[in-house]
Amino acid sequence: MVDLSRRNFMQAKQVSTPPTIRLPWTVDEKVFTQGCSQCGDCIDACEENIIIKGDGGFPEINFSAGECTFCQQCVKACKEPLFSPVDAEPWQLTIEITGSCLAKSQVHCQVCQDSCEPEAINFTYLHGSVPQPEIALVDCTGCGACVAICPESAIKLSTGLLAAN
Ligand code: SF4
Ligand code: SF4
Ligand code: SF4
Repeated sequence: MVDLSRRNFMQAKQVSTPPTIRLPWTVDEKVFTQGCSQCGDCIDACEENIIIKGDGGFPEINFSAGECTFCQQCVKACKEPLFSPVDAEPWQLTIEITGSCLAKSQVHCQVCQDSCEPEAINFTYLHGSVPQPEIALVDCTGCGACVAICPESAIKLSTGLLAAN
């Protein structure tokens, strides 16, 4: 007999789990999981140590460990045809600042702004409120530098199209 409560729980879990972020310049998830031999060469090649062996043994990006410098070493180390040309956009990522951001609780914090090399994070000075961060998506490269540095883990990068700001 089917356990409906368990099935509902599993479905809820599937919906709430964000898609895994694969390596930069990856063509798509299906091509990646069908072609990747799980050799781990990309993991060894990444000097930022942000590639980990994820669920099922496939490599994935862990932005809580650091940022991507777009050095292309993972692409060069891989012997499989899994990537688009490196002159294309490395990722189609979405980024958001969630409700756990300290500024939303009226606590002064601008740590993420200092970490953002392309200066995509700006703070708006609102009357009666501490400055609030906003990310200009057109300037965001998806490097992830702001993710690990945020003391509240409030910045989330995930796969999907970057919407225009
Ligand atoms: S491009 Fe460089 S920093 Fe980014 S995941 Fe690949 S090896 Fe790591
Ligand atoms: S570093 Fe994190 S908590 Fe601080 S302002 Fe940026 S998003 Fe908010
Ligand atoms: S992911 Fe975007 S907002 Fe965050 S540091 Fe990199 S460029 Fe800046």
